[in-house]
Amino acid sequence: MLETRINLAAFRHNIQTIKNIVGKTVSLLPVIKAEAYGHGMPRLAREALKLGAPMLGVGTIEEGVPLRQNKIAAPVLLLDGIFPEQAEDAVKYHLTPVVFSLETAKILDKIGKKKGRKISVHLKFDTGMSRLGFTLAETKRVLALIAKMKNIHVEGLMTHLASSADHQSPQTEHQLRRFDAVIAEAKRAGLKPTYIHSANSGAILNFKKSHYNMVRPGITLYGAPPVEIEGNKFREVMTVTSRLVIVKEIPQGEGVGYGATYITPRAKKIGVVMGGYADGVNRLLSNKGSVVVKGKVVPILGVVCMDNFMVDLSKAPTAKPGDDVILLGGGHDETSAEKWAELTGTISYEIFCRIGMGPRIKRTYVNG
Ligand SMILES: *Cc1c(COP(=O)(O)O)cnc(C)c1O
Repeated sequence: MLETRINLAAFRHNIQTIKNIVGKTVSLLPVIKAEAYGHGMPRLAREALKLGAPMLGVGTIEEGVPLRQNKIAAPVLLLDGIFPEQAEDAVKYHLTPVVFSLETAKILDKIGKKKGRKISVHLKFDTGMSRLGFTLAETKRVLALIAKMKNIHVEGLMTHLASSADHQSPQTEHQLRRFDAVIAEAKRAGLKPTYIHSANSGAILNFKKSHYNMVRPGITLYGAPPVEIEGNKFREVMTVTSRLVIVKEIPQGEGVGYGATYITPRAKKIGVVMGGYADGVNRLLSNKGSVVVKGKVVPILGVVCMDNFMVDLSKAPTAKPGDDVILLGGGHDETSAEKWAELTGTISYEIFCRIGMGPRIKRTYVNG
């Protein structure tokens, strides 16, 4: 019932913009986890590869396998790592796991021995986010042990930055200093990683020092940089539309929606829109959010229901059933992911994931 239009030209533009920012000596690892933040994974994977990305980043093995089934043969990094019992499949599908446990490294080494080939991995270090990664206390020991594993190829060293969207945060510098010490230790242990990477979108834009020789952009690829930047450097990729089901006049003093949280102050033309919180139209937008009908920004009235919500059509008096409604995107500030995020107390990332992965959404790609 909802339709998502994905503008591939905008996606390509965003990749090119990041390439220009980081320069020729830095490789791109486009992050397409969570259905490319709700934009559709295999299609955007292909688009990124056409522009020369040497590797793609997904979260889990469940996301990596469908890429192979879609005949995408490029290197794929499993950013969330693997559980030990998934090691066989990771190797079978030629997916590169991020490794942050010695146990997993040992299992992969064993599988590599059995198969007679080196298994590529990226080692991840926790330099201050307290999420995935070897702790600094175990770094030296772990690097020495993994360096000795004959069937493991440490292709990459990585960390993740907690506060990179804030260009003034001293935490990023602190984490990078710790990461530099890890890199030095890895070299002492005899490792020669092809890739060293730490930067997500915030760090790409704010901290040149974090680029090393590979960067991992996610949200900027989708046109919503987490950092305030001058001009329209990045373009919106996703536009979500739906349609008016019913248009009607209601008298003064009528309640609109569950709980009658909105009462008409006068007779009003309202529209019922197809799509609700089951589709990613957050219920926190009730009586707060706006959509666009016939080029006019119109407010949501009452609470958002599971399958529908109501809008005030006073400013779009010629609207009729079947007309298009822009919910998200479309070049309007009021329907931007950032605006939705502000109104619902979250970040653009969550807005895209929720609306883009709804079970009732139809995705189409334009400018292919
Ligand atoms: C999701 C993710 C990214 C991308 O982050 P953005 O802020 O969307 O650019 C980069 N690195 C890792 C490890 C991630 O999980």
